[in-house]
Amino acid sequence: MLRFALLAILIPLIARMFWRAVDHFIEGLAGNNAQPGHPASRPQAPPQGVQMVRDPVCGTFVQPERAVTLLDGRARVFFCSDACRDKYRARPERVEGRTA
Ligand SMILES: [Zn+2]
Repeated sequence: MLRFALLAILIPLIARMFWRAVDHFIEGLAGNNAQPGHPASRPQAPPQGVQMVRDPVCGTFVQPERAVTLLDGRARVFFCSDACRDKYRARPERVEGRTA
């Protein structure tokens, strides 16, 4: 009977540890990408409470810590991808005084 009691304690503990590990694993997978199946995902509207910056090339809002950055003179510009950064850098003239 002692063995049964031990199992009754151990099984929920192990199950909890297992699911916590699974949660961490899924979080790690989703961490680098925007959640693809998010029901309220609107790319043009930044979520409240999170400091977002706007990609001047395509207009996407990105998180500064995940964005691709470029130093344009004194200003740091944020981009969603290397492609947008290259496009911005390749422009023949930079538009001055435009605050989008
Ligand atoms: Zn972009």
